[in-house]
Amino acid sequence: MNLAQQIDQDGYDVRRFSHGLYIGGMWRPSSDGRLIDVVDPSSGAVIAAVPDATLEDAAAAVKAAARAAKGWRETAPRKRSEILRRCFELMVERSETLAMLIALENGKALRDARGEVAYAAEFFRWNAEEAVRITGEFGTAPSGTNRIVVDYEPIGICVLITPWNFPAAMATRKIAPALAAGCTVILKPASETPLTAYALAALYSEAGVPAGVVNVITTTSPGPLTFAMLADPRVRKLSFTGSTGVGRTLLAEAAKHVISCSMELGGNAPFVVFDDADLDAALDGAMIAKMRNAGEACTAANRIYVQSGIHDAFADGLSKRMAALKVGAGTNADTECGPMITRKAVDKIDRLVKDAIERGAKVLCGGSILDREGFFYPPTVLSAVSPEADMAHEEIFGPVAPITMFEAEDQAIAYANDTEYGLAAYIYTRDVGRGMRVASGIEAGMIGLNRGLMSDPAAPFGGVKQSGLGREGGQHHGIAEFMEAKYIAVTF
Ligand code: NAP
Repeated sequence: MNLAQQIDQDGYDVRRFSHGLYIGGMWRPSSDGRLIDVVDPSSGAVIAAVPDATLEDAAAAVKAAARAAKGWRETAPRKRSEILRRCFELMVERSETLAMLIALENGKALRDARGEVAYAAEFFRWNAEEAVRITGEFGTAPSGTNRIVVDYEPIGICVLITPWNFPAAMATRKIAPALAAGCTVILKPASETPLTAYALAALYSEAGVPAGVVNVITTTSPGPLTFAMLADPRVRKLSFTGSTGVGRTLLAEAAKHVISCSMELGGNAPFVVFDDADLDAALDGAMIAKMRNAGEACTAANRIYVQSGIHDAFADGLSKRMAALKVGAGTNADTECGPMITRKAVDKIDRLVKDAIERGAKVLCGGSILDREGFFYPPTVLSAVSPEADMAHEEIFGPVAPITMFEAEDQAIAYANDTEYGLAAYIYTRDVGRGMRVASGIEAGMIGLNRGLMSDPAAPFGGVKQSGLGREGGQHHGIAEFMEAKYIAVTF
């Protein structure tokens, strides 16, 4: 069965999505009929078109979310939980189709796309379990004059904005806790990867999510539409995942209306390998931390610091593994490194690699743009990368592993913290005492200690410094972002 047949079988004909924005449970064209082309990054060919929403459409989405708000807020937690659980089950049932859709529009290798669908679905299972465990507080005021009751209420209508690098997971990581909390939402997915968001919207409806509880709009004017939605007094929450630059703009805009913001922003993760690390485990971890999604991940290892005693063996092992990766279209079953999302992304990687080489880096494998159709950059390993190189300070967002040698623990921590970002960091050492010490010295929201992957719906995901505000997932953390505490002083 080919991709188109598989997608048709599950009712996700990509051509169907040229029909509609998803507002109030209905599929509709944009008010001016304009469309956005969706491109297959492995070929550059247009594969579908989705509506280009206008200000009028954004207002309709807010209206639909407002109309559905009371009913959803008053739906029993158990019922909300069962609907979320059904979303999880349907995602698992359709996982192969969803993975192919992600591989098609995002370009990531099918094995990465399958991993993303499993991760994305877990947010529904986790939040289905959390939805019935939202509790308040009850106590006596210190003065003894009254009781203190604290209730947690849904915050209100939420605008959710997501990037293209995880088209399913970045959406479900917001939608599932928002719905568990009792909120209604408007999702604006990235314009490069809208098909997965719309496929999931159809699935939510099938799972029993009432009309208007989740609305999805795509647009080429994200700024004006978001600003207009934030200006609507019914909107009380902005949850954004994307670049730090856009995050700053949105925070400034949200401040005008004093809207609660959760911000999952850019990263620049250090990957630190000490002499006493298990070499094979460190290489396995580096391949995951660097090459999940071909490096297009906010948690991707962006700077690899290796202690002098293990440096040569690590650099040699990593280059062999990277050079052996099979590059190709994400939809090919044997692909291990898919294309980048756009030509612009490839050009940025190329600029960063050229800058590092000019500053003295040595190319161990890869190192220049592949001469083929589509947006490909080969798996690349550089050694002797200067801490002054641009790639030590900017997200590479591609399959490039820059190695810098260090001698002492303090130097590794100083290198790791030499960035405005603080999302994720990785440490490899057999000395757990040192691992915990270094983990506490590194300024990051998440640490992988002898692990190359830390994303887990059951743990709080998020960053410090310029990597963001708030957390997604975790015990109550994710849901708390979509709730307000209400305190009632009671005398009886
Ligand atoms: P981006 O350019 O910031 O875009 C993210 C989303 O914001 C897209 O939906 C985009 O729409 C929208 N957008 C762009 N300009 C906007 C504006 N003025 N007002 C409102 N919305 C606007 O980021 P990206 O290139 O898609 O994603 C990569 C970035 O996301 C990286 O920095 C990565 O580290 C970060 N990221 C962070 C996390 C995390 O959890 N911390 C997770 C994944 C990714 P259009 O597509 O229409 O431009």
